[in-house]
Amino acid sequence: MRIILITGCKLHSVTAKVHSDLHESVRRSLSSHAIRYTTGRRRVIESMTVASGPLSAAELLDATEAVPLSSLYRSLTVLDEAGVLRRHHDADGLARFELAEWLTGHHHHAVCRSCGLVEDIELAGDDEAALDDMLASLSTTTGWNLSSHSLEVEGTCAGCST
Ligand SMILES: [Zn+2]
Ligand SMILES: [Zn+2]
Repeated sequence: MRIILITGCKLHSVTAKVHSDLHESVRRSLSSHAIRYTTGRRRVIESMTVASGPLSAAELLDATEAVPLSSLYRSLTVLDEAGVLRRHHDADGLARFELAEWLTGHHHHAVCRSCGLVEDIELAGDDEAALDDMLASLSTTTGWNLSSHSLEVEGTCAGCST
């Protein structure tokens, strides 16, 4: 399967496109759950917007200077419950957080077995279509209603391969 790695600048152009509406979308989603979009929560969202993949709480703490750990954990719980975040767990059970796909668009993840880096990746349109076909045929054979998918591919990142 062919996998396209999103480079830093390509990713920024993707996020720049959604960025103007992003905070407003988050604010509306939170307000429908009677949750305020505080400065601390905005900083968490901002850090995820510029990240190249899902971040752990420790990485978010570094990225959101001046947000205390206790308030960071509370923000993550609240944002998760409001459906603004997507939570992933790696093989060791470590949780990583990113913006939900309805905010950023559909993508997958590559995980480095050597250093643990997790990076967003996009499949070529043909490959996404092939995956959808596979799900449709799986739905037929299993009787499940399979409506979405998420790929996690493993290997060594560019930094660890050299
Ligand atoms: Zn690596
Ligand atoms: Zn996909």
